[in-house]
Amino acid sequence: MEEFDVVVVGGGIVGMTCAVELRRRGARVCVMTADAPARTTSWLAAAVWYPVGIGGSERALSFAQESFDVFADQAERGVPGVRMIGTRMLHRRPLPADPWWSTAVPGFATEDADAPFTGSWRFSVPMVEVPMYLPWLHERASELGVHVRTENVASLADIADRARFVVNATGLAARKLCGDETVQPVRGQVIRASNPGLAVSVRDEHNPGGHTYVHPRRHDVIIGGTFERGRNDTAPDPGTARALWARATELVPELREARILEHHAGLRPVREDGPRVELDRRLVPGREVVHNYGHGGAGITLSWGTARETAALIEHAWD
Ligand SMILES: Cc1cc2nc3c(=O)[nH]c(=O)nc-3n(C[C@H](O)[C@H](O)[C@H](O)COP(=O)(O)OP(=O)(O)OC[C@H]3O[C@@H](n4cnc5c(N)ncnc54)[C@H](O)[C@@H]3O)c2cc1C
Repeated sequence: MEEFDVVVVGGGIVGMTCAVELRRRGARVCVMTADAPARTTSWLAAAVWYPVGIGGSERALSFAQESFDVFADQAERGVPGVRMIGTRMLHRRPLPADPWWSTAVPGFATEDADAPFTGSWRFSVPMVEVPMYLPWLHERASELGVHVRTENVASLADIADRARFVVNATGLAARKLCGDETVQPVRGQVIRASNPGLAVSVRDEHNPGGHTYVHPRRHDVIIGGTFERGRNDTAPDPGTARALWARATELVPELREARILEHHAGLRPVREDGPRVELDRRLVPGREVVHNYGHGGAGITLSWGTARETAALIEHAWD
């Protein structure tokens, strides 16, 4: 008899959320991860709830909405690293219609803004500090009885005898593990700086110099960011860092009092069609693989919705 019902490959935000959700529903779960939490892409995320770059389908809205609700509840219960944060999204062109995801955000409003801006969207969304939250997810998984092993899986077929179901939550690595060339790296460079007392996220996505955001966390600020399609390296670029800092300090002048702590770059696992969450009976003959990867720049934003869908697919296929 197999020791586990499900092996989840991937210990980033997507894999660990799936593991907790599946175990909560009664499955015997093992997570296999090539990397420690601090070496995953998830660790670098800013990370605020913001469903960008995933289209505006009903499915995307439902993943985002479910995740919003779980995080809002976690913020209220004091789950480490999760809280609600006020945001100002500044516009430079005539104020567009409310975005497709605004129905998921209670209190979403528009308001005036000083030149060069034409107006802004104001809303409050979950902010997830991954260096606190991902360890909490690991602890939660371990309390529930999930086994976590650090092991690189060369092929999903190699682990097929360990459990009836394999969840493929490998982010960008899915490109190789299941041959999905539609998953592409979109590089994001950010600065981590000390927090001079900021409490509101500010976004200036149409800045002529490039996409700009300032996300204050409890003890630091994440300043971003770039969206460099197809670029595969993660060494921070000094010229990009200087440009980011100049744009951010112009947008939020209080940042001039801050100290730069670190520079990072990570690779978002972007898929044109949005995340792939589906049952695959063909990849590994005789086994059921449920894919859950390709969340792009919205992995935290969609994590609970896609984990619940993954668990539902497994429950449905169980009999
Ligand atoms: C700069 C930046 C800012 C971002 N900001 C936000 C934000 O504000 N909000 C938001 O929602 N999202 C944000 N994102 C996106 C978010 O970080 C990703 O969507 C998310 O981390 C994807 O999670 P994941 O678990 O799929 O992948 P990962 O975190 O990459 O985890 C993949 C896991 O798979 C494991 N793995 C891979 N291959 C193998 C193998 N062969 N064997 C075993 N294990 C394997 C890895 O070890 C790892 O544990 C940002 C990303 C970047 C880079």
